[in-house]
Amino acid sequence: MRTGWNVAEVIGVTQETRTARTLRLRLPGLTGHRPGQHVDVRLTAEDGYTAVRSYSVASALPGDELELTVEELDDGEVSPYLVHQVAVGDQLEVRGPVGGWFVWDPADPSPVQLIAGGSGVVPLMAMIRAHAAASPGSTAPFRLLYSVRSPDSGYYSAELDELARSPLLSVTYVYTREAPAGSGITPHRLDAATLLAAVLPVDDHPAFFICGATAFVETVADWLVRAGYPADRIKTERYGGTGSRP
Ligand SMILES: Cc1cc2nc3c(=O)[nH]c(=O)nc-3n(C[C@H](O)[C@H](O)[C@H](O)COP(=O)(O)OP(=O)(O)OC[C@H]3O[C@@H](n4cnc5c(N)ncnc54)[C@H](O)[C@@H]3O)c2cc1C
Repeated sequence: MRTGWNVAEVIGVTQETRTARTLRLRLPGLTGHRPGQHVDVRLTAEDGYTAVRSYSVASALPGDELELTVEELDDGEVSPYLVHQVAVGDQLEVRGPVGGWFVWDPADPSPVQLIAGGSGVVPLMAMIRAHAAASPGSTAPFRLLYSVRSPDSGYYSAELDELARSPLLSVTYVYTREAPAGSGITPHRLDAATLLAAVLPVDDHPAFFICGATAFVETVADWLVRAGYPADRIKTERYGGTGSRP
């Protein structure tokens, strides 16, 4: 855990989807992070006004580099700047990585069920990448249930497809607005029946990591507890917003 503000240099930018961008940062002195942690980013205007927002680390890189993926919120103060204006060579004030609760421990052999709503997939991707990097060290089975608006709004699609070739990872998408052409799937919001059909069974004693907008996370966690999954096996990360439920 690193405290205090440090200056990171933007060393790469990748358009992830139409509305999201991945920033690759170099943070001198950083010696890796735990999968699931986040950093705080502070922007300071010329008049001294500051805005701080948290962003999960998407990467599982060992050294002094890390990646953040930021979704643009139309009326947002910080995210449009990070998605559209930040360029390679720019500097950003960063605090962290921080967080010791919403983290996956590669030494834990428990099966892992990841559930993401939209940009909530970011810290879960760090866990998936760390899991893949640890393999064959980690044989914990991983499942990801990922709620996206449409096929082209999912982050890291090609990489997830590739990683899901491993018997240790399976990925299930729920499309809320538009399903893949010709799939015959009817778009729908995640509901309790779909959730319970997709997740690891109670008897597997899975560890859950759920991340996304606050209402999504709280609703999904509630469905799981009602279905008999122990609350102490469910870890959540709420990204904020007052948006709709799943
Ligand atoms: C621990 C943590 C990790 C996070 N990691 C990421 C990440 O990896 N990628 C990422 O894109 N965001 C992440 N967020 C959300 C991020 O911190 C900001 O809240 C987000 O970028 C919006 O900031 P903004 O200044 O653009 O919008 P603001 O100006 O703060 O808000 C604009 C409007 O959007 C609403 N809003 C704020 N956040 C959300 C949200 N998450 N969903 C829906 N509506 C919202 C607000 O209520 C407001 O109406 C994380 C949040 C937390 C707490």
